[in-house]
Amino acid sequence: MKSIRQYVPQRTCVACREVKDKRELTRLVRIANGSVEVDSSGKKIGRGAYLCRAQECWQTGLQGNRLEHALRTTLTQDNRKQLIKQVEDLLCLGRS
Ligand SMILES: [Zn+2]
Repeated sequence: MKSIRQYVPQRTCVACREVKDKRELTRLVRIANGSVEVDSSGKKIGRGAYLCRAQECWQTGLQGNRLEHALRTTLTQDNRKQLIKQVEDLLCLGRS
């Protein structure tokens, strides 16, 4: 398929399933030891999944198993807590 529009990579949020421009989403990556981290550069090697920069999507993604399913891994409690902390920093939550 050809398009005259400039190609913008699109990705699907694993929580709400909306398709958005890649740059509007935050990438999570499963690193070699099976744990998951926020990939703020978007360039880390590993299996990736994307979430909107919206609190609801992170809650859905982290509390359910959607993120784990997408990344084919199991999050430990520590890893989950670490991700929640990282995303709070990213979304500037919990600072009011
Ligand atoms: Zn979403």
